[in-house]
Amino acid sequence: MPKKNNSAGRCSFCGKESQFLIYGDNGVGICPDCIDNAKYLLDNIFAGTAEAQEPERKSAKKKFKKLDFSTLPKPHDINSFLNKYVIGQDEAKKTLSVAVYNHYKRLLQTKDENEVEIEKSNIIMVGPTGTGKTLLARTIAKMLQVPFTIVDATVLTEAGYVGEDVESLLARLLQETNYDVAEAERGIVFIDEIDKIARKGDNPSITRDVSGEGVQQALLKLLEGSVVNVPPAGGRKHPEQEFCHVDTSRILFICGGAFEGIERNIAMRLNRKVVGFSATEKRQAAATTDVAQLMRYVAPQDFRAYGLIPEIVGRLPVVTYLEPLTKDALRSILTEPKNAIIKQYEKLLLMDGVKLVFPSETLDYIVDKAVEYKLGARGLRSLTETIMKDVMFDAPSSDSREFVVTVDYAKARIEKN
Ligand code: ADP
Repeated sequence: MPKKNNSAGRCSFCGKESQFLIYGDNGVGICPDCIDNAKYLLDNIFAGTAEAQEPERKSAKKKFKKLDFSTLPKPHDINSFLNKYVIGQDEAKKTLSVAVYNHYKRLLQTKDENEVEIEKSNIIMVGPTGTGKTLLARTIAKMLQVPFTIVDATVLTEAGYVGEDVESLLARLLQETNYDVAEAERGIVFIDEIDKIARKGDNPSITRDVSGEGVQQALLKLLEGSVVNVPPAGGRKHPEQEFCHVDTSRILFICGGAFEGIERNIAMRLNRKVVGFSATEKRQAAATTDVAQLMRYVAPQDFRAYGLIPEIVGRLPVVTYLEPLTKDALRSILTEPKNAIIKQYEKLLLMDGVKLVFPSETLDYIVDKAVEYKLGARGLRSLTETIMKDVMFDAPSSDSREFVVTVDYAKARIEKN
């Protein structure tokens, strides 16, 4: 049983003199600072073990599902789940369903030296902003109940520069799992705006390329699969803390980017090298200026031409594209997905006992405005929010049980802003 001792002594852990020490039966004494540090470690790094000793902490920790082959959703199941949340983007859904299924099969493969080893296939998605790239990645993680984090590639810089080191994206994944490294190692990291770290032009600049190729090189380390030392949160406060060693070979990286102008690279490639039996179709696609049409042919070499280093491109073998959202798709996004924007407002008002009605013309009006302002799907929410502000302010205190959001009402709110 540890004993309190108020006489000054030397801490057996940090060696500092302390007025207050707690001694074990073996005469080892610990000072308040070291007790504090030990508690911090238990809370943050050894949370998995600490949790076993303190059952009440359990509820604070997110639950992730253990995957085995019998419970692993098949590509069709993943696709159907995605359909509930994401409108259109059939090609991307199919590609992702297969890639994610294969990835988790890979994690479940037996480690027999003589057997074929399934290698990791990270994914790259290209498509205009606001078309559902993040939503797809997030929905997959939600379905599989695996740790998930999103990081914006634009904030990443080479180690030592202002900004975040690439290791920080693993720190975020670790935070998601409450520092359970094994759990984090089977998670999904979504790296957004990967196109923004593409090398600009072929001439190497004399100034340091802090956010371009240097970051790509650093990112490569993670994508390749290596053991990375991740400083735990609050590393500065507790500099003596140990690093977490995270093996990235089991983490699935999904990269997304708009790659504005990549269709020019695709068109050039298709014109230059038209081979194979679908040659005429490809030539036609190259001849047309329709961006969506060309995107269907996006291939790894186009990312190289865009400025991603070949090694990165090589580590992102699964390539898929998202189409720009049509008016019809935007209209569906408003009302159809499980968490559709309109459904959310209906639920909000229903909690006040008010039935919200959105006539069809109002929905069309919102879509038209989103297209006019070139806001895409992201604009749908902000427009609806603007329209709904007064309703949400007044309805809870009003006696009426129904509110119809007429197109005139919607117009008046939008034009007022
Ligand atoms: P991206 O990552 O491609 O820039 P997001 O996935 O972040 O775009 O989309 C922004 C928001 O727009 C989403 O949260 C969602 O509400 C809506 N959205 C975009 N595309 C779709 C889609 N295809 N189906 C349903 N909702 C969508």
